[in-house]
Amino acid sequence: MNLKELYQEIILDHGKNPRNLRKTDNFNKDAKGHNPLCGDKVHVYLKLDENKKVEDISFEGEGCAISMASASIMTDLVKGKDEKDVKEIVSDFLQMIKEKDEIQTNLLKEDEKTKLMCLSGVKQFPMRVKCATLSWHTLTSAIDRSQNEINTENMDL
Ligand code: ZN
Repeated sequence: MNLKELYQEIILDHGKNPRNLRKTDNFNKDAKGHNPLCGDKVHVYLKLDENKKVEDISFEGEGCAISMASASIMTDLVKGKDEKDVKEIVSDFLQMIKEKDEIQTNLLKEDEKTKLMCLSGVKQFPMRVKCATLSWHTLTSAIDRSQNEINTENMDL
């Protein structure tokens, strides 16, 4: 199996069986995101403990395989991490999707980086970039409480 096949395999797996597709009990932060170009919708729920560590993260939504796989991988990776580390991972991921060839942060283990790199293929398909980044922008919005509902139509990515 080559790298491209491995990436496709991971995306298909997460797209078909999304992790953390549910609503967190007693969440204390949440936000919604909508990508009208594709019809993807996501609602991200976060439960931060008193030390601002992600005790639980989950999402509800519907959309294409890329958007679901991306949300699934994201929730898997940020669970258990500190809020500030989550922000660094999000910004690193968005940079990778936009312009870089690899994940640079050392907050993630190699196998976790591999999961994120699966989504790097969307770079060649500008329409799909918003599918891949939707849940990540929504997570940022939930943490910052910047907007209640984000709409990718108004964003660069
Ligand atoms: Zn989509």
